[in-house]
Amino acid sequence: MSEDSNQTTAAAERLAAVRETIARTERMAGRAAGSVALIAISKTHEADAILPLIDAGQRLFGENRVQEAQAKWPALRETHSDIALHLVGQLQSNKAEDAVALFDAIHSVDRPSLVSTLARAMDKTGRRPECFIQVNIGEEEQKGGCAIAELPALLAEARAADLPVVGLMAVPPADVEPAPYFALLDKFARDHGLPGRSMGMSGDYETAIMLGATHVRVGTALFGVRPKIE
Ligand SMILES: *Cc1c(COP(=O)(O)O)cnc(C)c1O
Repeated sequence: MSEDSNQTTAAAERLAAVRETIARTERMAGRAAGSVALIAISKTHEADAILPLIDAGQRLFGENRVQEAQAKWPALRETHSDIALHLVGQLQSNKAEDAVALFDAIHSVDRPSLVSTLARAMDKTGRRPECFIQVNIGEEEQKGGCAIAELPALLAEARAADLPVVGLMAVPPADVEPAPYFALLDKFARDHGLPGRSMGMSGDYETAIMLGATHVRVGTALFGVRPKIE
C-alpha cells in the first residue's frame, strides 16, 4: 500500500474505534444513540492528516487557535462545505470577529468583556455560532474558564447580550480522577437549564459520556500523539 492509503486506513480505523466506544458507552449510560457529538480536535495537524478523517465521514472538527484554523480550514471547506468547525481554545477579544466568521461554535466564552465583544461581532457579521460558557471547574490558577462563583453572573450577561448559549464546557485538572468534575459540570448545566455539556478528551471521554457529556473533544485517539508544542 502507498503511504497515503496506509494513512487513510489507519485514520478510518481509529475513527471507527472511537465511534464504536461512544456508541457502546451511550448504550451503557442508557442514553439515545447519537446523543453524543464527536469533535475531532485537529490542532497542530496539517491537511494531509485531516483529509483521511474527512474521507472516512467525520464532519465535525475542533481547533484551539483562531489563526491556525484560518490557515487550514477555508481550503478544506471548499471541497467539503458540510464541515462544522468548533473553537475549543481560549479566545482573545481581538480575534473574536475572526472567530465568529470562521467557527460554528465557540466553547471558550469565559469573561464579560468577551461576551460583549462576541455580541458585537455577531451583530456585525450576521453569524451566530453556538456558545458554551467555559468553567474553571477545578478552580486552577493557570486554567482558562470563568470561576465557579462567577458562572451565574456571566451566564446572565451572555443571555442578556442575546448570545446563543447552548451549554457549558470544562477541562478538569490533569492527573486526577475526572469524574467528580464531570458530575459537577453536569449539575451546573442542569441548574441553569442548559442542554450542552462539552467535556471529555481522549483519556476520559467514556467517563464523561457516562456523566452526561453531549460533546466530547477527541484529538490524540483519532490523530495519534501530537508534537509537544501546542
Ligand atoms: C487538545 C484539546 C483536546 C483534545 O485532547 P486529546 O487528549 O488529544 O484528546 C480537547 N479539548 C481541548 C480544549 C483541547 O485543547
